[in-house]
Amino acid sequence: MLVMSGIEIVRGIMNCVGKGAFIMAVVAWIGLGHMGGPMTANMVKAGHSVRGFDLSAAALDAAVANGVQAAGSVEAAVQGADVVFTMLPKGEHVRSVYFGGSGILAHAAKDTLLIDSSTIDIESAQAVHDAAAAAGFRFVDAPVSGGMSGAAAGTLTFMVGGESGAVADASGYIQPMAANIIPTGGATTGQAAKICNNLMLFINLASTSEGAVLADRLGLDKQVFWDIASVSSGDSWALRTWYPVPGVVPTAAANSGFAPTFTAELANKDIGLAIAAARSTHTPLEIGEHVQQLFQRLIDGGQGAKDCSMIVSLVDGSLPAPGASKEPAAGAGKE
Ligand code: NAD
Repeated sequence: MLVMSGIEIVRGIMNCVGKGAFIMAVVAWIGLGHMGGPMTANMVKAGHSVRGFDLSAAALDAAVANGVQAAGSVEAAVQGADVVFTMLPKGEHVRSVYFGGSGILAHAAKDTLLIDSSTIDIESAQAVHDAAAAAGFRFVDAPVSGGMSGAAAGTLTFMVGGESGAVADASGYIQPMAANIIPTGGATTGQAAKICNNLMLFINLASTSEGAVLADRLGLDKQVFWDIASVSSGDSWALRTWYPVPGVVPTAAANSGFAPTFTAELANKDIGLAIAAARSTHTPLEIGEHVQQLFQRLIDGGQGAKDCSMIVSLVDGSLPAPGASKEPAAGAGKE
């Protein structure tokens, strides 16, 4: 008897149909920010009809320029949709668009598949799973990894938790945005995987920042050091994608004065989710807790809306003093 893991089944589906060559659907999308914007652009390119809603007019306008149809409310976006995606900052935002008289559960058709790709706390994810099931919907938690560059390239990793039939159906819709779609198990396990992954990411970002500044001060050329670390044991996704020194990695926010690709606020939120989960499971996270303090210092210094890779300013000394200009001062982390 042939037994396939969930991953093999999903890979099989992806291999059979190829990117973009599957069901065309009406997609409702709530949250068109740094991630939702490029993700919806790929859904449009795949031939889906995408209706988007965002509280920010600028985010909505940018999505419309990529072929998304503007909806004036959550209600207008979800009516008649085959699938609803949410890509919102935190659990409180996801709860607010799902629950209440103007929410998704009140206005979507019962056969609409619901997919939350935000990174949120496990309690909020469980609350949405429970409320969706009680209202007769199928819902999966499907957070992503890969950053804005992965969102633009359609190469995100999705980790998908929920009932297996809903996970398989969700995988079909997710395909134009993904290089990897990995079923994680039951409700909230996608969020659990994402929270643990991001704990490791932000620790890697902090260690990369320290290595980059120390290398500079020891007289190493920034490109030469990156060339070595990226093929050596200091390698990481943070190093290859978010290297916090300008002029080395094209996708790095360091090249544009730390204009956000992933804000320090969101990084602080994610590592806080790991710390909360660790406390509830009696798991010591000594390094994770320290890295959260670094993000908190960045936020207290007025840089919460900047990219999280500006954490390097705590190492190279370029974090502006409170009340000073919010632009990072010249230093080892700047050209
Ligand atoms: P973002 O802040 O750029 O975008 C979120 C969008 O949601 C904003 O445009 C905001 O206006 C909108 N929004 C908030 N409340 C709303 C509401 N009630 N109704 C409609 N729109 C609403 O954030 P992002 O960087 O796109 O991240 C979104 C999620 O994806 C977060 O949970 C984040 O942790 C996760 N994530 C981000 C990245 C990244 O690199 N940026 C990578 C992986 C996962």
